[in-house]
Amino acid sequence: MGLLALGTPLPWFESRAYNEHVRNEGIEQLLYIFQAAGKRDNDPLYWGDELEYMVVEFDDRDKNSMLDVCHDKILTELNVEDLPLCEANDVSFHPEYGRYMLEATPASPYMNYVGSYVEVNMQQRRAIAEYKLSEYARQDNKNKVHIGCRSVPLTLTVFPRMGCADFLNIKDPWNHKNAASRSLFLPDEVINRHVRFPNLTASIRTRRGEKVCMNVPMYKDTATPETDDSIYDRDWFLPEDKEAKLASKPGFIYMDSMGFGMGCSCLQITFQAPNINKARYLYDSLVNFAPIMLAFSAAAPTFKGWLADQDVRWNVISGAVDDRTPKERGVEPLLPKYNKNGFGGISKEAQDKVTKIPKSRYSSVDLFLGGSKFFNRTYNDTNVPVNNKVLNRLLENDKAPLDYDLAKHFAHLYIRDPVSTFEELLDQDSRTSSNHFENIQSTNWQTLRFKPPAQGAIPEKKDSPGWRVEFRPFEVQLLDFENAAYAVLMYLIVDSILTFSNDINAYVHMSEVWENMKTAHSRDAILNEKFHWKRSFRGENDVETESCSIDEIFHNTENGIFPQFVTPILCQKGFVAKDWRELKHSSQHKRLYYYLKLISDRASGVLPTTAKFFRNFVLQHPDYKHDSKISKLNNYDLLSMCDRLTHLDDSRGELTSFLGGEIAEYIKNNKPAIDSKV
Ligand code: ADP
Ligand code: MG
Ligand code: MG
Ligand code: MG
Ligand code: MG
Ligand code: MG
Repeated sequence: MGLLALGTPLPWFESRAYNEHVRNEGIEQLLYIFQAAGKRDNDPLYWGDELEYMVVEFDDRDKNSMLDVCHDKILTELNVEDLPLCEANDVSFHPEYGRYMLEATPASPYMNYVGSYVEVNMQQRRAIAEYKLSEYARQDNKNKVHIGCRSVPLTLTVFPRMGCADFLNIKDPWNHKNAASRSLFLPDEVINRHVRFPNLTASIRTRRGEKVCMNVPMYKDTATPETDDSIYDRDWFLPEDKEAKLASKPGFIYMDSMGFGMGCSCLQITFQAPNINKARYLYDSLVNFAPIMLAFSAAAPTFKGWLADQDVRWNVISGAVDDRTPKERGVEPLLPKYNKNGFGGISKEAQDKVTKIPKSRYSSVDLFLGGSKFFNRTYNDTNVPVNNKVLNRLLENDKAPLDYDLAKHFAHLYIRDPVSTFEELLDQDSRTSSNHFENIQSTNWQTLRFKPPAQGAIPEKKDSPGWRVEFRPFEVQLLDFENAAYAVLMYLIVDSILTFSNDINAYVHMSEVWENMKTAHSRDAILNEKFHWKRSFRGENDVETESCSIDEIFHNTENGIFPQFVTPILCQKGFVAKDWRELKHSSQHKRLYYYLKLISDRASGVLPTTAKFFRNFVLQHPDYKHDSKISKLNNYDLLSMCDRLTHLDDSRGELTSFLGGEIAEYIKNNKPAIDSKV
């Protein structure tokens, strides 16, 4: 997504009249896509990552670190006057939900194995963002604002004091009402200024008929309060201001708005498959990698100024955009007087069609796409409602009839209502626009996304993207070295799956994947939990799993990621003869060795996850009072350390304790040769 076009987003009570129109047209658009691009073949393995940053302002005199919501002009500038600079560096910046957020990708996708270029490109993105922010700091100092402050783009999954006092770099965000979110904790200033984002926030809340509600277990220490004592009385919004007391629970951190989730950052990676069948096979094969990689990349041990008793962001985002009404969730409304029969913002005419929906529109994958010789329909063994009208249309039409399993996938996405409809985009030419299709598609946020091409992507048009699969569970890591390592790991796994597609059968039962998603949230899941993992990837009709630790999942000879996916593809490429560890002695691929060593050492628990490292930092800080709370100073010191780690500053030995001596030494002495044209 590039810069967003302006337009007039319709508020929920107006947009809901067009829900069926958007769905109907979206499906026709999809059929035109299948008609045009269904026969594409031999597309190269293009791929690319997306990194999300939080711009953090450090006030070194006041010893506070805040989310920077004052310099978001950076996005416009990087897409207008600085576009040539970005293009020269092969990078591209995109808007995200948070006003303090940046998303950046390579401007053109990578093709196949590109060595350390992924990291080089990440460094170029960071260098450009840092250069712009330092320019702003100079101007600010001249203008006598934000004096003595500096802003840094950090790849943090969650801002530890999100929603606490003084967490934004503006003076008095509470001198006016936050009408979009109505949160007790987040002013609307956290939200991207583009009209799409506050409108989306309000639409989700209005459809649901209540504010969203996330309760994350508190980390229990000796002086931890019984309840979340940051909840306070307010009478700005009726009924929303009455909800907290009913929605919060003892022992849990209570959060009440979209920003707590969509304001988190992640690392996503998109891969192009040679054709649609391979794309389906790749998607299905990656389904059970998602919960594993979520747990493996854990980097979110703190929410709203508290240490949490979980390590990842996922269920917080899931709750943050959960637009289901109480009726759809099968619960009583918090305040029945204001939410009649639990129908939320559903129109009278649509109420008789309301059914129970088991999951938020942000959740793990629901269905395998099928279409391969290893697939069996019984593997889709969870309760997944579908839109039957859509299902029938996709199965029977004269444009491009889909097979049942693929049709079912889109029909299940289409149980959702649009939550972001623009007046100017209501009428589209379905032969050329995919905007209505994308409206529903891109507000179903699952651990994987099956990305179809556009209608223009006819087989011979190779420069137009083809059938792609996006891998979305990773928490973003602090260092470009780490993010590059995780991205390259996924590239190797994907290349392995596509190369050995005749032999690799990664299917399990979907219900086991859903269980794995739950397990992935536990604190220290990487050390203490067991996951359902395929006993063997080589059996024709086999879905048998066993219970494995993350260490076993990566290292087991019979079914581990290194022996079964990484080493075979490295052998196939001629990088090693028998084992990935041979890379250590290679002159060309030494950096790849250290990427894989980082992964191997984290998987085995030799090195801490980011979550564990952060938690320990907070617990050992002199300002910590055993109450599970993160003070301003604790947060400032933690994020200052993050800034040092990001920049490979090991003056206090922090890099060495985070990554181990060998990796720290290597990356300090072997900085990738970045050729930033700043
Ligand atoms: P979204 O936000 O919809 O997931 P982005 O445009 O932000 O999409 O990111 C998509 C990623 O896919 C980028 O890293 C980009 O480089 C990469 N990419 C672009 N074209 C292709 C392609 N044909 N195949 C695979 N990946 C691609
Ligand atoms: Mg993106
Ligand atoms: Mg996006
Ligand atoms: Mg993003
Ligand atoms: Mg995001
Ligand atoms: Mg993406």
